[in-house]
Amino acid sequence: MEKLKIAIQKSGRLSEKSVSILKEAGISMTNGARKLISVSGTYPIEVLYLRDDDIPQYVRDKVADIGIVGENVFAEKGSDIEIVERLGFSRCRMSLAIPKQEKYTGPSWFAGKKIATSYPVILQRYLDAHDVNAEIHEISGSVEIAPGIGLAEGIFDIVSSGSTLISNGLQEVEVVMKSEAVIIGRNDMNQEKRALLNDLLFRIKSVQAATNNKYILLNAPNDKLDEIIDLIPGMKSPTVMPLAESGWSSVHSVLSEDQFWQIINELRALGAQGILVIPIEKMIV
Ligand code: ATP
Ligand code: ZN
Repeated sequence: MEKLKIAIQKSGRLSEKSVSILKEAGISMTNGARKLISVSGTYPIEVLYLRDDDIPQYVRDKVADIGIVGENVFAEKGSDIEIVERLGFSRCRMSLAIPKQEKYTGPSWFAGKKIATSYPVILQRYLDAHDVNAEIHEISGSVEIAPGIGLAEGIFDIVSSGSTLISNGLQEVEVVMKSEAVIIGRNDMNQEKRALLNDLLFRIKSVQAATNNKYILLNAPNDKLDEIIDLIPGMKSPTVMPLAESGWSSVHSVLSEDQFWQIINELRALGAQGILVIPIEKMIV
């Protein structure tokens, strides 16, 4: 039987979430050991633990069928392969930054200057798009110290909170791209692997839908029932059952996480009582 070979980061910011997303999709790895290859007992899959930078190449070379990387790594090294699914975690951005005392005048500020980065491909693409001629100085780590030690006038690097930039006396001047974890793959997978991948994506989407939603139960006064139902339409429509006490109904529905607090407040204002909110483990979408 064919196995789906999936490459994930061996150790780093993506590893824990990558393992847990597979686990929630029913793929348990043999004692979670960080071996090069681990075979799941419950699903025909093989997991390869690699440096994130190497994953696009392994997918291109068919050593792995799919991989989980940051979109930034995909943009830098992912030629000939494609994004199969966005995963929504490890969000960050790729930005240009310059010393904070410099006055920024737009992309042309970088003309003739030296920029330190670990992402020369993305940076060159940006500079070309803006018709800026700058010198790219590729370094593999600690990019943020480059201006301070006179190695470059600006940097292009990953930013999440921006605190690393501030503590190095830098200001963020351009956001070149936003990034999140993605599943990458080739578009020429055989039918059997494609079916395994589709099954895996279905599982992952069900888990993601579940974590983005809550199950809600409440008691509603009947004269406000229509307004309450409008607020929590659920997957199809809410379940409404009469309570033993006349004039009241029990309403069950599904509520998305991002609207959660606002809707709870509106429900209370409409007289809803006994509101219970329960996590959903899997939601088949
Ligand atoms: P490796 O040893 O595997 O090469 P690495 O040092 O290149 O690891 P990490 O720092 O573990 O990589 O980051 C992996 C990915 O996580 C990055 O490519 C990026 O997509 C994302 N990432 C990096 N920094 C942050 C951050 N501060 N916040 C959120 N996501 C981040
Ligand atoms: Zn890396």
